[in-house]
Amino acid sequence: MVEDSDIEITNVSRRFGETVALDGVSLTIKQGEFFSLLGPSGCGKTTLLRIIAGLEYNDEGTVCIGGEDTKDIPAFQRPVNMVFQSYALFPHFNVRQNIAFGLKMKKVSQQETDERVNRVMALVEIEDLADRKPNQLSGGQRQRVALARAVVNEPKLLLLDEPLAALDLKLRKQLQVELLNLQRNLGITFIYVTHDQEEALVLSDRIAVMCDGRIEQLGDAESLYENPKTRFVSQFLGTCSLIEATVKLSDGNGMLVETALGTLRVAAKHPGRDQFTLAIRPEKIRLVSKTTQNGENECTVCIDQLIYKGSETHYDLSHGDQPLQAVAMNRHHPEHSLNLGTEATAYLPPEALIILDD
Ligand code: ATP
Repeated sequence: MVEDSDIEITNVSRRFGETVALDGVSLTIKQGEFFSLLGPSGCGKTTLLRIIAGLEYNDEGTVCIGGEDTKDIPAFQRPVNMVFQSYALFPHFNVRQNIAFGLKMKKVSQQETDERVNRVMALVEIEDLADRKPNQLSGGQRQRVALARAVVNEPKLLLLDEPLAALDLKLRKQLQVELLNLQRNLGITFIYVTHDQEEALVLSDRIAVMCDGRIEQLGDAESLYENPKTRFVSQFLGTCSLIEATVKLSDGNGMLVETALGTLRVAAKHPGRDQFTLAIRPEKIRLVSKTTQNGENECTVCIDQLIYKGSETHYDLSHGDQPLQAVAMNRHHPEHSLNLGTEATAYLPPEALIILDD
């Protein structure tokens, strides 16, 4: 069944002169989802958001909201509100007037306007700021006003374009939690644009990772992190070491592959080609000081760089020309730890080796 704010985007493309901003994007977003568009600058995130809002048009493809093609629906008639990175508050209005603006335009009664404005100001905890002008607010407070101004219209769909980008890290983390609570309490569909991978992982039910106007991969945070399909996704969402591999043997337990690290067992089944790139997340590599002969999936590595980060240590390793990155929690006292310039044994668990498509 199609719900009111289900979104179906089919084969949407948009060109600006020579630039292909969107190249055949298709995706479905369900009512009540917290959906993020994640990707580097210029990959087309904002253009897609603006097309959904009706602020930009698409050259090809369709955008349906609630099962209805939006081609002929102007922006102001769509069940959509947008929150911008730049807040876009009216400088001469105070906080209350800024939030009430949309309701005034819709000719909502004064009493109902007051009730709704009071309710959303309480929701984002800005009741004390009602009489202040935007230039008398901090960045975080302005962001809350911008959110309240969008939420007060009770849109079915809230489009957020990097709304927290201008804030410092601590405030951003605090507002992330509040955004999540707000979304869960209101049940509104959120489409959230960010280039911050951690923010996308923390907030989203599902994420579309975008690159050069296309969706590289779409899924929930865990499946994207644990099973990146391409080099780009493996590097953009966290980091991975990449290892070129050639199949030697394929059996019921997976495969044996030849790599620059020696022979490795891979738990995944044969992908239908004998040469591919493997990826492994840094925290999956187990590192111990070199004491014994190497066993299966173990290799000797040199510790080229070591960055102590309190709870964990990051290691840049190498085996000949093959670089590896590892992260280990600092469970033990530092005197048991591994030292820069020494050799260690790295274990790459067969089930942690991911086969990439490219
Ligand atoms: P950012 O994170 O920097 O905001 P983005 O992923 O949101 O980037 P878009 O703003 O969607 O990217 O832009 C996609 C591409 O289209 C970019 O190359 C951009 O320069 C181009 N572009 C966007 N809007 C226009 C426009 N109005 N005229 C010309 N080119 C445009």
